[in-house]
Amino acid sequence: MYRNTSYLLLSVLKSRFAEKHSIWSSIGLVLRHVSTTNTTQKRFIQSFVKPINCRFDFKHNCCLTSRSQPLLRQPSSQTGFQLNQSIRRSLNTSHTMAFTTDQRGQQNSSDYRVFIKKGDTGEPVSPWHDIPLFADEGNRIYNMVVEIPRWTNAKMEIATKEPLNPIKQDIKSDKLRYVRNCFPHKGYIWNYGALPQTWEDPKHLDEATGCKGDNDPIDVIEIGSRVADRGEVIKVKALGVMALIDEGETDWKVIAIDVRDELAAQLNDVRDVEMLKPGLIRATYEWFKIYKIPDGKPANEFAFNGEAKDREFAEKTIAETHKYWQELVNASSNATDLDLKSTTLGNSSKIDNQNAIEIINQRQESAKAVPKPIDDQTAIDKWYYITLP
Ligand SMILES: [Mg+2]
Repeated sequence: MYRNTSYLLLSVLKSRFAEKHSIWSSIGLVLRHVSTTNTTQKRFIQSFVKPINCRFDFKHNCCLTSRSQPLLRQPSSQTGFQLNQSIRRSLNTSHTMAFTTDQRGQQNSSDYRVFIKKGDTGEPVSPWHDIPLFADEGNRIYNMVVEIPRWTNAKMEIATKEPLNPIKQDIKSDKLRYVRNCFPHKGYIWNYGALPQTWEDPKHLDEATGCKGDNDPIDVIEIGSRVADRGEVIKVKALGVMALIDEGETDWKVIAIDVRDELAAQLNDVRDVEMLKPGLIRATYEWFKIYKIPDGKPANEFAFNGEAKDREFAEKTIAETHKYWQELVNASSNATDLDLKSTTLGNSSKIDNQNAIEIINQRQESAKAVPKPIDDQTAIDKWYYITLP
């Protein structure tokens, strides 16, 4: 068994320029294994990482080091493996790791923030205004900012009213917001996030839905098999879109797939989703319909009878919300409480790198990434059985 894991470790480290996530998740598995092995096994494993100038520091929480710098260490909590950011950057080519995160405050607290920085220079960016909508416009590949990893419950979102728009947890009635598990679901059933440089204009009455926009960037659900990280920027293609009416506001949900997913090449439109992931569209419809019911809200409604519209419709909708965003950031006067600060756009809201760093530094560094215990874990574990009226 340990021989296999060592080979795995060696191969993933050697393929450090391959897709980032398969590497990190594989190394995670190996490290978990290494911490439980005996002395002979440890020596054996050490010999495998030596040729690539790495070694395990078993005394210090099973840290994998490269040139005496910590590379990866065992997680102290369920948050996952802690990775030295500067080394993470150096190990990844710019096309696989264009952005990194800088977490501030304690997770599961109202102070928690996830800022986004450029992967190569570490310069802060606004995930809303500075990350381009398109990763590859010719091939219609979009950037998606992941706010909520699949299976989690914390309602995290881009803070549209804060400088640099970090990701933070939504607060309702003075409490951190967690979505309830509506049977048979657990938390969010896809990676959930937003497309940068889009805006659902609250002044615009949508023809299709008869409702106004919800004042946020457009939402995306990413249906790939991998659980993404919070704050990660992934490249996706749009497959379709659902028109949710959430408390009277138009709230588009773009259905998308990570272009690196094993099924991405076969998924090109919403009908392919039903072929390859049968039941997912139906489950998605039900999820959005009922997710607020345990909190005493009515069932949500949909335009188009809840039907998911196709890729072309989705792309048209994204283009519209991109146009509204352009109008927002280019307006000569902004009577808005939205924060439009940007480090890259050449408009009146531009701030320099030093200012941006100061904004982040005003917030406390994360205390060893140990999350605060969740106040009401019982409510998050509970399954709610919903009878639709
Ligand atoms: Mg929305």
